[in-house]
Amino acid sequence: MQNNYQLVETRLQEKCDDGRTVCNLCLWRCRLRHGQRGFCQAHVNRNGTLYNLSYGIVSSAEVGPIEDKPIRHFRPGTKVLSVGSYGCNFRCTGCHNLEISWGVDALDELARGESRAAFITPQELVRAAIAAGVQGIAFTYSEPAVWLEYVIDVCDLARAKGLYTDRIGSEIGYSCGNTNQCHTWIERRCRKFGSHFALDQGSPWPR
Ligand code: SF4
Repeated sequence: MQNNYQLVETRLQEKCDDGRTVCNLCLWRCRLRHGQRGFCQAHVNRNGTLYNLSYGIVSSAEVGPIEDKPIRHFRPGTKVLSVGSYGCNFRCTGCHNLEISWGVDALDELARGESRAAFITPQELVRAAIAAGVQGIAFTYSEPAVWLEYVIDVCDLARAKGLYTDRIGSEIGYSCGNTNQCHTWIERRCRKFGSHFALDQGSPWPR
């Protein structure tokens, strides 16, 4: 792994008196002891603080037309850099992104500090997007909420460079431990960055 890999504290965590932490990034609201990882496998409690293991760990990246994404009528005719990371809070039957979304082995290596996965800073990702000639960045392949710390940092930089951003999740309504706290918070942040919310067309969840 590159030397600049960093563990970043999970946003929207609650620290309990007994050393456990509650993650409020999605409806699982995992309550974790030291050493435990959340259902998504991407967040770990270390000595009473929750960290996102997958920050900056890009499991897949691809440049293509926005029309390839499962959304409609959003920036037609543009090219987008699609990126995703390991870890997902869903276990969908027939997931076509299994190797790059669950990625439990990769997350095990990250948790042990043995990963050789490429770490890409938000600055490097935005630079790569500009070099690729795309007009936007889409967070996809697994549920973007489980690496929201990275998504927000990239959105901040991307918007400053004139790129649009797009969160493509199977279940935006699920990315909230508390409807009024997390969902509204994510939506507000995405609006601030002009980021687009998109539900996967195959989502089984109510829209
Ligand atoms: S993102 Fe969801 S599944 Fe992952 S640790 Fe947080 S609450 Fe649990």
